Amino acid sequence: MRTAEDGYPRGVSVTELGLPGLRAASVARHDPARPDDPRLIDRFGRVATDLRVSLTDRCNLRCTYCMPAEGLDWTPKDELLTDDEIVRLVGIAVRQLGINEVRFTGGEPLLRKGLESVLHQVSELDPRPEISLTTNGIGLARRAEALKAAGVNRLNVSLDTLRPDRFATITRRSRLSDVLDGMAAARAAGLNPVKVNTVLLRGVNDDEAPALLRYCLEEGYQLRFIEQMPLDAQHGWQRSEMITASEILASLRREFILTPDPAERGGAPAERWLVHAGPSSGAPGHASGAPGRGPVVGLGPVLGTVGVIGSVTRPFCGACDRTRLTADGQLRSCLFARGETDLRALLRGGASDEEIADTWRGTMWAKAAGHGIDDPGFLQPDRPMSAIGG
Ligand code: SAM
Ligand code: SF4
Repeated sequence: MRTAEDGYPRGVSVTELGLPGLRAASVARHDPARPDDPRLIDRFGRVATDLRVSLTDRCNLRCTYCMPAEGLDWTPKDELLTDDEIVRLVGIAVRQLGINEVRFTGGEPLLRKGLESVLHQVSELDPRPEISLTTNGIGLARRAEALKAAGVNRLNVSLDTLRPDRFATITRRSRLSDVLDGMAAARAAGLNPVKVNTVLLRGVNDDEAPALLRYCLEEGYQLRFIEQMPLDAQHGWQRSEMITASEILASLRREFILTPDPAERGGAPAERWLVHAGPSSGAPGHASGAPGRGPVVGLGPVLGTVGVIGSVTRPFCGACDRTRLTADGQLRSCLFARGETDLRALLRGGASDEEIADTWRGTMWAKAAGHGIDDPGFLQPDRPMSAIGG
């Protein structure tokens, strides 16, 4: 059993308390305040329908904002959920808890042996969830077709720079061309639209927002910038170093005109913008006047969209529809949750699907209102992003 001392503290699990799974399930189910609703509702009126599953905490890159150069102490194999256990939990989520979207992530999910088999089994669930994958793109070029065939609907690839030297600085590996090839292969395999996730780092790649957007528009990818969050294994995050959503937008507006995307945002974390050619682009039909300020006349055609995920400065916790499962079978109601619920112990202790579903409902019912990064008492979760699943 892992403890706070080994770097992965978590909420007290039912097995640690010595309680049988059924008792814990009953506690969850019989909270008198919880309405009798099979879905993953919480005390603030939210309903989780989007399940994030981390398939491994391992990675073949070492992004500076995510993990140290030497990597981390990877979870031993016997503590990881098996393929069958993952499929069983996803099945419970889909059939009993109203989950309709499953995103596989990590660590680097392409490193998980048997990935395509897990995807295929999930794609055969009834009702079939939407299946997506977040990857760093290494090895994607030769896997894209198989991922599509296994049932993946959508793909997010992480790309922070178009410059090989900066890629090597940020990820500590010289693999930029592999990532670009992977994205092109995903597009060719029909995994469209390929979404691109970018984190900007002050003094490293914060001047590249317009270039990345230009590239993604040309290639037909959908770009989303993500504010850097306090989820790095080294606990080195500093607010002053974070490039904010406002800074990202200001940088983009030096080259493009952005107007709010009227499409319904729903629980999506990204604020979406329609991108039009700006004055400096030389494209026909561009707006007159200062970009991004005041009413804009003569907008050029929409070139595409861009998203900005202001997790820290523009939190969207009130609309959150996520529930998360780590590679070692711990259920989390939030990226920033301080506690976890040990579903692996329930699975391996012989719990029924109904007992597991009830425990899941209870954990989500107790979900906090927000991540609390701005609270004076905020504590970064000890488990880093790579071990939670981003
Ligand atoms: N390895 C895969 C990848 O990089 O896409 C999947 C896992 S990674 C943890 C998922 C996403 O989280 C990536 O887009 C990555 O850039 C982002 N990420 C990692 N650490 C972050 C942090 N501290 N703040 C914001 N985003 C982060
Ligand atoms: Fe690996 Fe993704 Fe973390 Fe980069 S962000 S180190 S690719 S898990």
